[in-house]
Amino acid sequence: MTDDFIPFARPDITEAEIDAVADTMRNGWLTTGPNAAAFEQEFIDFLTDGAGGIHAVAVNSATSGLHLAYEALGIGPGDEVLVPTWTFTSTAEAVRYLGADPVFVDSDPETLCLDLDDAARRVTERTKLIAPVHYSGLSVPNQALADFASAHHLKVVEDAAHALPTLNEGKLIGTHGHDATVYSFYATKTMATGEGGMVVTPHEDIAKRMRTMRLHGINRDVFDRYTSRKPSWHYDVVAPGYKYNLTDTAAAMGRVQLHRLPEMTARRAAIAARYDEAFADLPLQLPAQPAADSSHAWHLYPVRLTEDATVDRDEFVARMVEERVGTSVHFIPLHLQPYWRDTYQLAPEMYPVASAEFARIVSLPVFSSMSDQEVDHVITAVRAVLS
Ligand SMILES: *Cc1c(COP(=O)(O)O)cnc(C)c1O
Repeated sequence: MTDDFIPFARPDITEAEIDAVADTMRNGWLTTGPNAAAFEQEFIDFLTDGAGGIHAVAVNSATSGLHLAYEALGIGPGDEVLVPTWTFTSTAEAVRYLGADPVFVDSDPETLCLDLDDAARRVTERTKLIAPVHYSGLSVPNQALADFASAHHLKVVEDAAHALPTLNEGKLIGTHGHDATVYSFYATKTMATGEGGMVVTPHEDIAKRMRTMRLHGINRDVFDRYTSRKPSWHYDVVAPGYKYNLTDTAAAMGRVQLHRLPEMTARRAAIAARYDEAFADLPLQLPAQPAADSSHAWHLYPVRLTEDATVDRDEFVARMVEERVGTSVHFIPLHLQPYWRDTYQLAPEMYPVASAEFARIVSLPVFSSMSDQEVDHVITAVRAVLS
């Protein structure tokens, strides 16, 4: 076992997911249908503990979900959206889809979530929305976020691609009443459908617009059309929409993954706790811990090499490969990416925290299907490289 290469991430798929997908194939309903509808309802039940009060829209990726949410909230040409530089390009690219401009914000040095003080300095008359990323499974403190948005009259779309499930000041992310919260079920995320995502919102009109735009700007989805009491060949195209609906095969897998999410979350937390203990004496800055009334989803376990380390980040990554462990870097800040850098004339000095932290950060494997032996292997490898 310890001779095997440990990948950075590996989906946690059991026979239950395989059976659920096979069932959809046998049932003959492959595209958005009964499983997608059930998945949306179960997602609401999961987040609200059955209380409801939010709407869920299943989509084929978080990127699609961000696009739908920004669109439904009226973002368009001339508008500015505050986006952390410390994120995946999706959070910003979906702003560009609508002809609006992302304005990048530097990071909090502890959590690497966006720094609201820095965001305040970058607000202009054109700023319409803030899209915080709850990085790694930690959260942007909710009250501070809500106060910031209300002070500057901004809409809020939370990029919760890492934060399923994360408690933020006593409530699960997705239930604080922000305009929209977007989740990813990409293969490496805390629950996976291969490709997939979900948007939740407390606003019925926003949910309705996203449902319409998710499927070509048609005002009823295919499933409703064929199964409502008055079957009808008629449909109305009310806008030039997109093709962002989630397949029933993916939704079937998602329903099983959602059911298993508490168990998978506990496993990731246990792995993180073992790492915290095993690495305490090494030249590493370990991940920030969540605030007292908040939790950590442990989508990522990022460590930062300190000045005492005898290797730099790139050498660490290379040495870990020799030790047969895959790692990754989250993230290459967007202000360093050619497109964003050149389009908005961004320089490293404009983002001092993110630029400095990027040089020394690396993410270690933390996925729920890791065996104890694999966790030991990673610990031994990190200790060998850093001792
Ligand atoms: C993975 C990720 C996304 C994109 O998710 P997809 O489902 O692949 O579109 C967006 N934002 C962040 C922060 C991510 O990590």
